[in-house]
Amino acid sequence: MIEINKNKIKTVNDFNFKNKIAIVRVDFNVPVDHSSLQITDDTRIQYSLPTIQKIISDHGRVVLLSHFGRPKGRRCKYDSLKIIVPLLSNKLQIPIKFYEDCIGENTKKNIRELKNKEVLLLENLRFYKEEEEGNENFASKLASLGDIYVNEAFSVSHRSHASISVLPKFFKEKKCIGFLMKKEIQSLEKILGKKGKKPITILLGGAKISSKIDIIESIIRFSDFILIGGGMVYPFIKIQGGKIGDSLIENISDNTKKIIKNILCKNENKKKLHFPKNVTIANSFDNDAKKKIVPIHSIPDGWKGLDIASESIKYFCDIINKSNTIFWNGPVGVFEFYNFSLGTRSIARAIVNATEKGAFSLVGGGDTIASLKMEKLEKKISYLSTGGGAMLESLKNEILPGIKALIL
Ligand code: AMP
Repeated sequence: MIEINKNKIKTVNDFNFKNKIAIVRVDFNVPVDHSSLQITDDTRIQYSLPTIQKIISDHGRVVLLSHFGRPKGRRCKYDSLKIIVPLLSNKLQIPIKFYEDCIGENTKKNIRELKNKEVLLLENLRFYKEEEEGNENFASKLASLGDIYVNEAFSVSHRSHASISVLPKFFKEKKCIGFLMKKEIQSLEKILGKKGKKPITILLGGAKISSKIDIIESIIRFSDFILIGGGMVYPFIKIQGGKIGDSLIENISDNTKKIIKNILCKNENKKKLHFPKNVTIANSFDNDAKKKIVPIHSIPDGWKGLDIASESIKYFCDIINKSNTIFWNGPVGVFEFYNFSLGTRSIARAIVNATEKGAFSLVGGGDTIASLKMEKLEKKISYLSTGGGAMLESLKNEILPGIKALIL
């Protein structure tokens, strides 16, 4: 069992799966190169293996549920989970069965034919619109497939989808989390609550401004330093009266503006928020664009900030260097363009250095992890989260819907 806000949640170790059918909700939504039909990053599959293996070694039967892509309630061959079967069979060293649906009589028949120690992967949950709608009737159909529910899909546990937040209700005490989910929760607890070793630094970058902005309101309470980089910073600079030229500024709603003003106001006393000092700007969105370095408040029209520059890199890295807990989500520049990747690469290296000196580092988000991989630093971080969105939602210090549904 693990404890979340004084509530206890069972793990797969609390069950013996012998002769039982385990309904394991995984996240096999891995990136695929459709021209070569190759899975380009199998991290999420790899991380779910220990849970599947535990059920197999107990002589249980594994039924895997997952979503894949964005089929929006329609069958689409490009979004079929069948593509996962060879890789999963290879990794588990047993033939994996596959069935082309996830509910209904034929699905049940396939499950009845399953023997102990066998694994059956069912078709994409999102071929039914009811999955994303959190439909109770759809969840009850999924519930009729097995005996014990296992949530091993942290990365979607912030969603109120049928297989995440509704399905567990049908299993009373027979529900739990897998090993990956346990690790994700425990690593977040090292930042949240009172467990984080101070100083705690949170670095937010990237481009999805509106989805990250309200998180700052929560983290300002428990963190010591909040570093804002990437496209995230420009709405702040603009509201402060700075000139941001043509830098990224998502269509920000009045509500987002209100939140930003509120954050800036709170920061007046707390002095926790830190912005880049200077930035590398470009005259077009291109790796080979003309570039120059200017103070962040004075970006001329026709130019856009695509990276943090030397003074900002030093400023941010000095803060990271004195931190004992570091959380990072979002690159501080358009790192996909090598000429604008210095800031992100330097941050990655500074976090690794701090980790090597004993700090706890937690990094999440597909692009952020990709930037670490670019520098071959991904194994030098204390914990890489498989769920960027879920990780950010957890920072609001609210229990995620998928976890809440498991609390006894
Ligand atoms: P996110 O998913 O929010 O973490 O955003 C990641 C994306 O943000 C990456 O593709 C980066 O290229 C992009 N990004 C980072 N900094 C900037 C910037 N200054 N301007 C435009 N895009 C940026």
